[in-house]
Amino acid sequence: MAIATPPHPLRHSAELHGVTKEFGSGTSRVRALDDVSVTFPGGSWTAVMGPSGSGKSTLLHCAAGLDRVSSGRVLLAGKDITAASDGVLTALRRRTMGFVFQNFNLIGSLTAEQNVALPLKLAGSRASRQDVHAVLTEVGLADRVRHRPRELSGGQQQRVALARAMATRPAVLFADEPTGALDSSSARTVLGLLRRMVDEAGQCIVMVTHDPGAAAKADAVLFLSDGRIVDRIVRPSALEVADRLARLEG
Ligand code: ADP
Repeated sequence: MAIATPPHPLRHSAELHGVTKEFGSGTSRVRALDDVSVTFPGGSWTAVMGPSGSGKSTLLHCAAGLDRVSSGRVLLAGKDITAASDGVLTALRRRTMGFVFQNFNLIGSLTAEQNVALPLKLAGSRASRQDVHAVLTEVGLADRVRHRPRELSGGQQQRVALARAMATRPAVLFADEPTGALDSSSARTVLGLLRRMVDEAGQCIVMVTHDPGAAAKADAVLFLSDGRIVDRIVRPSALEVADRLARLEG
């Protein structure tokens, strides 16, 4: 399966408008996102950075409809999903959106190829075994298709999780630290794949990362602090990103 073709006819975006997200209540209430407004345009790749606890994962989960917001509006591929039913969200997840979780969320009893094939089957796609193998080959796992997650290293599991999210060619891909468990050569491969998904297929990618080198591959970097967007750098260098992050982390 050629990941980069065909181009998405509509360049779908993800949008947050005045989003606040609170957890807990009373004295234990935490405001993880505080009036965040941002548009992640189709055909662009945005890295999200910030100190630990600044709200990066919450932003991703809210934008993807995995978490309900406390106030504000969330749009995914032009649809207002703020109060969407579970059925609508499930359909969007199958057809429009991919998510790479920080802890991979692979199904332990399934092989790598079965994990990758699952969302395709759920979306009603008649993807062949060759298609699934092609995606696993793209992430460098051609020789691991029949391994189960426990038989794979953390980095290999992360690449299976990425292949699973890429296989449906989602218009919008959210990735929470997709290179966090990878050695530098695998990270280069994965970042190259993400770049192609954006440049050749017009997909929208939103990626949380701690790595200034990875962030510098994106089109723009958004910086969060205490649940607020405090800065944005377009076409950044790794040095600029590292410098901005160091200042935020104090
Ligand atoms: P980051 O990804 O930048 O490390 P998070 O989005 O995970 O930050 O968390 C932002 C804030 O929200 C933190 O203070 C965290 O403790 C809190 N938080 C996140 N998820 C939950 C939750 N499920 N319940 C309570 N607090 C949470």
